[in-house]
Parts: sequence; C-alpha cells; structure tokens
Amino acid sequence: MNQQQFENFTASSLYCEKCKTSMPVRERLLLVLPDREIFDYLCTGCGSSVGRREVTAGDRLMAQAMAARHSRRAATVHQLTP
Ligand SMILES: [Zn+2]
Repeated sequence: MNQQQFENFTASSLYCEKCKTSMPVRERLLLVLPDREIFDYLCTGCGSSVGRREVTAGDRLMAQAMAARHSRRAATVHQLTP
C-alpha cells in the first residue's frame, strides 16, 4: 500500500482493509512537528487508521491564507514598548 499517493489532497474517502470497501474517513491530528503536522485518517465505520497525511509549514500558510478570506479572525498584535 503506497501511502504517498494521497499525500497532496484531502481525502474524504479511502479504502479500508477491515471493511473491504471504500469508506468515508475523518481526519485526526496525530503529531505536531516544528515544520509539519501529521494527520491520521480514521475509517468512520470501524475506526481503524487507513491513511496518513503530512502538512508542511508551507501548506499550512496557504491554508491559513485561504481561511482568512472566509473568516475575519482578529489578529494578535504584539506591541513593542520603546
Ligand atoms: Zn473500516
């Protein structure tokens, strides 16, 4: 099973070995590293892990830029005192 094949897109449905069919999956944040985050894909049918995805810092910045267009979140401003 080559896990690289779905590295670059957000999966909504993956083949589950236990269920023997393609199942909807949910994404779970597995690990946070300094330069990337690793997400685990869990089968919604049996709960087993069916895939992994890595999000690099670059990808996350892009996602944040996209999200910023949809939601107006207040930015935290760090003011430097002279
Ligand atoms: Zn399953």
